[in-house]
Amino acid sequence: MTSTSARPIALAHRFADELPELALSWRADEAPEPRLLALNEVLAADLGLDAAWLRTDDGLRLLTGERPPEGAAPVAQAYAGHQFGNYSPRLGDGRALLLGELATPDGRVVDLHLKGSGRTPFSRGGDGLAVVGPMLREFVISEAMHGLGIPTTRALAVVGTGRVVERETYQPGAVLARVASSHLRVGSFQYARATDDLALLRRLADVAIARHDPDLADADHPYRALFEAVVARQARLVARWMLVGFVHGVMNTDNMTISGETIDYGPCAFLDVFDPRTVFSSIDTGGRYAYGNQPAAAQWNLARFAEALLPLLADDQDAAVAYAVEALNGFAEQYNLAWTQGMRAKLGLPEGLAADVLDGLVQELFALLQANPVDFTGFFRRLADAARGDREPARALFLDLAGIDGWLERWAALAPDAVAMDRVNPVHIPRNHLVEAALAAATDGDLGPFEELVAVVRDPFTPRLGLERYAEPAPDDFGRYTTFCGT
Ligand code: AMP
Ligand code: MG
Repeated sequence: MTSTSARPIALAHRFADELPELALSWRADEAPEPRLLALNEVLAADLGLDAAWLRTDDGLRLLTGERPPEGAAPVAQAYAGHQFGNYSPRLGDGRALLLGELATPDGRVVDLHLKGSGRTPFSRGGDGLAVVGPMLREFVISEAMHGLGIPTTRALAVVGTGRVVERETYQPGAVLARVASSHLRVGSFQYARATDDLALLRRLADVAIARHDPDLADADHPYRALFEAVVARQARLVARWMLVGFVHGVMNTDNMTISGETIDYGPCAFLDVFDPRTVFSSIDTGGRYAYGNQPAAAQWNLARFAEALLPLLADDQDAAVAYAVEALNGFAEQYNLAWTQGMRAKLGLPEGLAADVLDGLVQELFALLQANPVDFTGFFRRLADAARGDREPARALFLDLAGIDGWLERWAALAPDAVAMDRVNPVHIPRNHLVEAALAAATDGDLGPFEELVAVVRDPFTPRLGLERYAEPAPDDFGRYTTFCGT
């Protein structure tokens, strides 16, 4: 293999140029023995990248950050953030790098970013590394989210580094190459605001507008419009999470994007049985980021975003606060709208349905789902069978048969549309027991189960003959599921 520079990819360094205060020029660690574990060929093609080249030695060394393309200027990004409610003025990319921005054939600009690329000045006590299991986990869960139509960062590749990394046990190291609309976060604004450099804050907001909301540059009040756009995106995003039972697990302000994409697949997992109190993350002992708390957590984060933006929202502080309070109220309204419309679709009911009828049905259903308790994803899929006249599969999930029979009767009277339901209710989510099994096998060198799981969750609405086990809940002996973050 040659060691010429990686020509097939051209990366810009606009973030580094436009926001040097938030960018620290840095290089990735060398990977002793890079080995490709997963390559997202479909995504590579969408990005105009040559998958065959990415598989070469030069390609792999680009994907680990060791050999960035000529002209690229990788940086560690600075950001602050509230973690579980506590403010940290300096988080930043402690194990990540922005390689640069890539122009796609369809005219978009995306970040190419690495996770697990070695220590940086933001690493604090951390080793700057990542390991195979969690990086493949980000790959499979973000592909599932994309398959479900939910805005998300994407995984381009996971490359094993050949390095051994110390965690609870020794684990094989890996680097994830991630693609995102941008890595601007609420925490980026908190960092800029904390510098007291108003020109920097304004420049950051201008960069965000240029990148995500170019139409707003001409608005009467571009910074207010930016704030409202982010509120709207996050309200819709979290509603989408709730509708598929996704629990992000670590909704810190540094993990909330300005783009409205889901980011940072650490301790996340999907609900099995419906329970709003569900927490998977080992460190979320207080349940701050429990399934049912996610809308409130998002709104809390957006209040921190408003605080950071305050000097740009009005000339005097009182007016800025008054504006922010009102704009934040828009979150609940937009969240409720997105969630209600989404629930209506999940139940196969028509658009014009009276709000009180829908609310009543949903509340009663959720009480039944929680009391029995019932597998969230499995129930909605089986409900389409009930819409086709066969109520037994859905009914069989409940202990309280009288309760569900009464509910099904009222619901069926509204003439639900089974075909429409099958378009929005997935057969396949990345089931926790299957994710764990696939990652354990991959860590031991067998990528087969991981690859099969990725293929299934990429196409979540299509039942697979012979792969029925992918649609089933965890066996009883799987027990309570716990995920670990920062690993
Ligand atoms: P996260 O939980 O991935 O959002 O990370 C929160 C912060 O911790 C960020 O500043 C990360 O860069 C940093 N971090 C997480 N894991 C490590 C690690 N292994 N080494 C250094 N920094 C880390
Ligand atoms: Mg993060």
